[in-house]
Amino acid sequence: MPVTRLQHRFAPQLARSHSHSRTAFSSKPVSTPCRRRGAGPRCAMASPADIKLEAMEDADRRRAPALPYRIGHGFDLHRLEEGPYKLILGGLEIPHDRGCVAHSDGDALLHTVTDAILGALSQPDIGQLFPDSDPKWKGQTSDVFVKEAVRLMHDHGYELGNLDATIILQRPKLSPHKERIRENLCQLLDAHPSTINIKAKTHEKVDSLGENRSIAVHAVCMLIRKDLVQ
Ligand SMILES: [Zn+2]
Repeated sequence: MPVTRLQHRFAPQLARSHSHSRTAFSSKPVSTPCRRRGAGPRCAMASPADIKLEAMEDADRRRAPALPYRIGHGFDLHRLEEGPYKLILGGLEIPHDRGCVAHSDGDALLHTVTDAILGALSQPDIGQLFPDSDPKWKGQTSDVFVKEAVRLMHDHGYELGNLDATIILQRPKLSPHKERIRENLCQLLDAHPSTINIKAKTHEKVDSLGENRSIAVHAVCMLIRKDLVQ
């Protein structure tokens, strides 16, 4: 546990009564042996004023910190099937003999990006905000989900720092489409191309991903508090 203001306040008297632990009150937590012997700061006799101070510190700890940076992770997976389905990635339709089975348009990349941003904000995920039990979202183009995540990001006082996504798909090859997917994503996120990265991998013919029966996407993003953006 980090040293608190209360611990600093008790430091002199505790240092006198436990001279062996003097270094523990400089800037580091109390050493483990001291804790075992009951020499931790909370063992000291506390006055009502001290108890009040401790309560204020507890309240401080509960207040949400305005973090300078927030990191989020997103993941999505969809079945790929033949039929009336389309393969859409980053708003771009990719020619393929299979498409994503989904309630919305099945854009796994945009779903992942949405969840990465929501995750960075510690907000409910895409499935909670846009449940597939709601007919309102049936066939919905997924730019709507990303735009809502971006709106929440700005509401919380953050800008997108950068985003790195990996698409796992056995077929078709995505290299001819990657740049257009990135351009679409930059436009949707209002982001500079240098801050958005799209990678594509096969799954070495292993499991459903490798057998062209599914598609998966991972992404991480970093948000930066608006007052720190240059
Ligand atoms: Zn999805």
